Amino acid sequence: MTTRFGDYGGQFVAETLVAPLEELCETYDQALQDPIFRAELDHLLTTFVGRPTPLTRLQHLGIEPHGVTMWLKREDLTHTGAHKINNAIGQALLARRLGKRRIVAETGAGQHGVAVAAACAYLGLDATIYMGSVDAARQRPNLQRIELLGATVQLVDQGTATLKDAVSEAIRDWIGNPDTTHYLLGSALGPHPFPRMVREFQSVIGQEAKQQFLDATGRLPDAVVACVGGGSNAIGIFSAFLDDRVRLVGIQAAGDGRGARGKHAAPLVYGTPGVLQGMRTYLLQDDNGQVELTHSIAPGLDYPGAGPEHSHLKDIGRVEYLTADDNEALNAFVALSRNEGILPALESSHAVAGALRIAPSLPRGSQLLVNLSGRGDKDLTTAMDALDTRKDA
Ligand SMILES: *Cc1c(COP(=O)(O)O)cnc(C)c1O
Repeated sequence: MTTRFGDYGGQFVAETLVAPLEELCETYDQALQDPIFRAELDHLLTTFVGRPTPLTRLQHLGIEPHGVTMWLKREDLTHTGAHKINNAIGQALLARRLGKRRIVAETGAGQHGVAVAAACAYLGLDATIYMGSVDAARQRPNLQRIELLGATVQLVDQGTATLKDAVSEAIRDWIGNPDTTHYLLGSALGPHPFPRMVREFQSVIGQEAKQQFLDATGRLPDAVVACVGGGSNAIGIFSAFLDDRVRLVGIQAAGDGRGARGKHAAPLVYGTPGVLQGMRTYLLQDDNGQVELTHSIAPGLDYPGAGPEHSHLKDIGRVEYLTADDNEALNAFVALSRNEGILPALESSHAVAGALRIAPSLPRGSQLLVNLSGRGDKDLTTAMDALDTRKDA
């Protein structure tokens, strides 16, 4: 298995991680070939995660006069409320196969932490979740959920005390305990084989969505739209359509919308290639290669890099990467809630905002498929505060 996607990816790690990564590659390859592993994973996806998730046709978003129809793939309806559980349950099963009963993971918004804690509780594994202390303060309900699900939370005060620092600490833990511990990375990021493995575990989104779309309409969508933080929900849905004549659009977070350094999280739009956390990929970095600060109203998009496969898909022109800013995401959050009865995560609201932006330019009769990566309950405080600020302004 190649470790790269074109010029991106690779395994830029400390020597102590080479052997554990090799072991992970071998076990993962064997597991993929093993019908028993596949069957067990499918069983868990059905009985624990709640798959298949439905496809919903929207009716009142305001694009109907343009003759454009939008459909949502409903990852918000999975157990724990976002696509992250697909990968968490897959890797937890893999950890068991590796004979490792301790899991470490990073979390930013807490969604991945909740998914890992739930998967580990169900499969009887110990979980330690690293979380930046700044994130822990602004995502208290998820911190409480993680603890209720029996995982240990380790707060991280280093650096900006956010996601990137939590990743570094989780890796440090793994380096110290490779024989007992599996690092359950939450997005299509990091050193090989994580980007391929996470893509594989998320590809169920695209496989289901493609079949459901064909069943509902008799054809493929004209465009598929997904938000891109690390890139796992996007690559999960895109993977089924890469060889089809379907336009693929990734939406990154433009933050305050002015493209200024430190005020957005759109490396695939404003970044340059560099090395971070084990991979070569597009990054937000200064001229000396120092990683820059990021901002997005959606905590799950607030990361300075994107998965290496997305960097490759950008360079070869197979996927377009556009942005939606905090305001547009908030508008989409309100519009989807009021007009369709679906409260989206702020991350997913970026995908909806991007789809709403391109809809008027599409030919009449076009069909858009949008991945609704998660539900918005976790974002109520953030969204209500932002809407109040808007009223005051
Ligand atoms: C974490 C998260 C994201 C961003 O992660 P990707 O790996 O880019 O998918 C998007 N949506 C939701 C709901 C999330 O929790």
